[in-house]
Amino acid sequence: MDSALLHGKEININSEFIMHFRIGKNQSEIKEILENKYRDFAKKSAFRCICCGSIVNLIMPLQKKFHFRHKDNESCTYSDNYDKYTAQVKKYEQGKHDIGKTLIRTYLQGQLNPLHIPVIEGYRYRSKLSIVPDLIVEFPSGVKWALDFLTGLRNNKSYTEHISNRRMIYEEHGFKSYFFIDTSWLAINEITPYTTLIEAEEQLLMNSSTDKEWKLFLNKFQPEEKEYIQNQKLISNFNVRSIAYFDINNRECTILRLIKKKYSDSDYYIVHKPTIISMEEALSVNLKYEALSLLNLNEEIAMNDFKEIILEKYHLFLASEEETRRAVNRSREGNEKAVEMNSLSTFIPPSKGSPNEIAKAYMLHNMGIKVTPEYLNKKEKELKRKRELLLNKSVVYESYIQPISGWKEIVLDNFFSFHFEQIDFNELRDLVINSEVDLISEEPKKVEYAISMYIDVIKKEIKLQ
Ligand SMILES: [Zn+2]
Repeated sequence: MDSALLHGKEININSEFIMHFRIGKNQSEIKEILENKYRDFAKKSAFRCICCGSIVNLIMPLQKKFHFRHKDNESCTYSDNYDKYTAQVKKYEQGKHDIGKTLIRTYLQGQLNPLHIPVIEGYRYRSKLSIVPDLIVEFPSGVKWALDFLTGLRNNKSYTEHISNRRMIYEEHGFKSYFFIDTSWLAINEITPYTTLIEAEEQLLMNSSTDKEWKLFLNKFQPEEKEYIQNQKLISNFNVRSIAYFDINNRECTILRLIKKKYSDSDYYIVHKPTIISMEEALSVNLKYEALSLLNLNEEIAMNDFKEIILEKYHLFLASEEETRRAVNRSREGNEKAVEMNSLSTFIPPSKGSPNEIAKAYMLHNMGIKVTPEYLNKKEKELKRKRELLLNKSVVYESYIQPISGWKEIVLDNFFSFHFEQIDFNELRDLVINSEVDLISEEPKKVEYAISMYIDVIKKEIKLQ
């Protein structure tokens, strides 16, 4: 065991060893320092077992861990727990474990010792434990914490079972458990809002009061906003839980608040973003709640940030949806118009264009090809020229009708209707006679003749014969 009592004060020989080791002393130098410090007391059997009060000896073998041992190899809960604990650490933990545990203890002791709340080694617990936590804190109210720094996680079934048992045993003994995982297991980067947990880590997810606050906060969004958040983040609920990683070298703690990703076994959405705080901050004790601050941070600012960002995105999303809807409608209306135009049973001749163009338009119409105004406008110049040409074509007897271009215009404009038998020749002739043209001759035959000649000219010009 690492600790023993000297005149009622706990001496942790391993912590002292680490303290000297970290400032560069080697094992024999440390042994000499500690012998000078404790030899005289050890000689007089002044060290007592923390648990049962029997005499313990200080053992400082080179190449092995310094420790206290019951005289005559007696056994007590302490030594049972201690043996179990050392075997457990050997099996499951790695190099940084000791330093991490010492740091955690130091931060906690700084706050709790003045209040006479002891931070003890887990193996010093008065009852036998089948799995022993690194550290235990017992508050006068009866609240008990079990704290662990986990360094040797494994992605296999037996380790997952070990962690699951650990949680169960702590719960049975009434401990509130805090797990800190070595930062080498932290999987985050800037390009993804997700992390991946191994099964053992999933067992270690905690449900803190801040997690509950996040859950409440997320549930306060409007139903359609909630749906948007869940769709965007690929989650199906707002069950927020957290996990904490310690970076011993930088004395930093990264807290991830997580919601399980949809359709995934091991991926989790990181709510808002990782929280990175100093270890000191993470390990500050909230005495009112007898809980660690790391899980009870005031995250109001983070929540407001999240809300602002998500609502901005949501409104952009709504705007783009609206734009898409409008575009679809526009295109649908456009299609309906085009269909309408193409499906007209009666062809409406375009107001502009030569009879030739109009005839072409009619044929295209019958073939189901859309005749757009652009189609005709494109050739406007050419059409105008052709129309001029037709109006200036001279025919026999034209001088009997005045002005010459006036009556031709009427024939030209109505040629199409005439050609497709919407009006007959007599009607066309009457249109000319009843217009403001002058008939020089009293002989209608001459007028009819002129019109008929002119129709032939048009037909020839637009190749309708
Ligand atoms: Zn003992």
